[in-house]
Amino acid sequence: LAAFGAGVYLLMRHSLYENLEESIENSGAALVETIQYADGRPYLAEQARVSVPEETEHFSRVFDRSGKVTSDSTTAIGSIPPNTAAVARTLAGDAVSYKIESGPEKELMLVRTLPILREGRIVGVLEVGQSADEVDETLATLLLIMGVAYPVTLLLASFGGMFLAGRALAPVDEITSLARRMSAEGLAQRLDLSLPDDELGRLARTFDEMIARLDEAFQRQRQFAADASHELRTPLTIIKGQIDVSLQMKREPETYREVLQGVNEEVDRLIRLAGNLLTLTRADSGQISLALETVDVGDIVTGVLDQIRPAAEAKRITLHLRDGPATSIQADEDLLLQLLLNLLDNAIRYTPSGGWLSVGWTAADGQVTLRVADNGVGIHEEHQQYIFDRFYRVDKARSRADGGVGLGLAISRWIVEAHDGLIRVDSAPGEGSTFTVVLPSAH
Ligand code: ADP
Repeated sequence: LAAFGAGVYLLMRHSLYENLEESIENSGAALVETIQYADGRPYLAEQARVSVPEETEHFSRVFDRSGKVTSDSTTAIGSIPPNTAAVARTLAGDAVSYKIESGPEKELMLVRTLPILREGRIVGVLEVGQSADEVDETLATLLLIMGVAYPVTLLLASFGGMFLAGRALAPVDEITSLARRMSAEGLAQRLDLSLPDDELGRLARTFDEMIARLDEAFQRQRQFAADASHELRTPLTIIKGQIDVSLQMKREPETYREVLQGVNEEVDRLIRLAGNLLTLTRADSGQISLALETVDVGDIVTGVLDQIRPAAEAKRITLHLRDGPATSIQADEDLLLQLLLNLLDNAIRYTPSGGWLSVGWTAADGQVTLRVADNGVGIHEEHQQYIFDRFYRVDKARSRADGGVGLGLAISRWIVEAHDGLIRVDSAPGEGSTFTVVLPSAH
């Protein structure tokens, strides 16, 4: 603002003075035309005067060749001593401009002297002067306006700026105070600000989305902890019950044996459960790193079939191996083994005696597709989308009797996704189920 003000002031002063000088020049040129002569000496007739605004101080004066004054209006504004040097220079043919301070108030006058020509000869000098008072007054007024207007403008701009910034940044305040109020328990609140799609609007919406994600994650975590505790409690209650009953009175060694066997089974179940929970929590926190190596699909499938053969035979379930092409995948062998074991384990568990199950694979378009199929009880369509969720069991009572807690498929899905693959199920109740796993092949 200061630089702008200084610029305006200087420009104004320059152009006002230029105008004034031009006006004096014009007056001079006009007056010189009205010069009259007496005895060959030039003089100005009484009525010939510079045409200037009334209140402007001005004067005109005529010198003859010898430098003597022949007409003089300076007496009207107090005498101004003739500038003999300027008169002499003008007599020599130059027009001269100069400034002079006149009167008791030291008023600045701009003066111009110009030669009077008669028949090509210089016969005298015309001197025209005009006060620069008005210019100075205009400039003083300009300074005054700037002096008042600029502080007022600054003040208004500051308050306006504060007001606008306050309004624009109010959502930030709301975000801050909401963030302060938030805790893991109270993630239900949202900003819900109806802001336009600008930087702040996007920030507020992103903030809400982030809280929603956190809320969901916390809820999942809480649910997981609750389900896990519940699953841990059941075997412990059974163990406690069996021990209590056997301690009520003295019993045969055979009875103790049976009780211990029952307890042992429950403890096995607990160990399995604890193992599964550990796998899932470590998977959640990204603590499990894959030890990737090239795994031959045929080798691993035959290996898994060998492992489950005794369980299948015990249940009189026929195993079919549908050999696929020789192919390999980049995978963590232990996890891949666990994945196949989970699927085959389920197939045996949910297939009645006398049924069959088959394992096979195909390779195409850089992908290996593994299929585990059975002709067991199958899964109703409404359950199919949930069976990969943690602790989800279609038939709670039945699964428990068979030893499942509903974590096998959740772990399987995690293993498949950690290998950038996908898993899906096709099933019809009473006809059987087919689990399909698609994994990227080694090359
Ligand atoms: P579980 O430990 O109960 O077997 P899973 O996560 O392995 O838990 O499986 C979840 C549910 O999916 C099971 O309770 C069962 O109802 C269903 N399921 C899984 N595999 C099969 C299958 N081959 N045939 C029929 N139902 C199955």
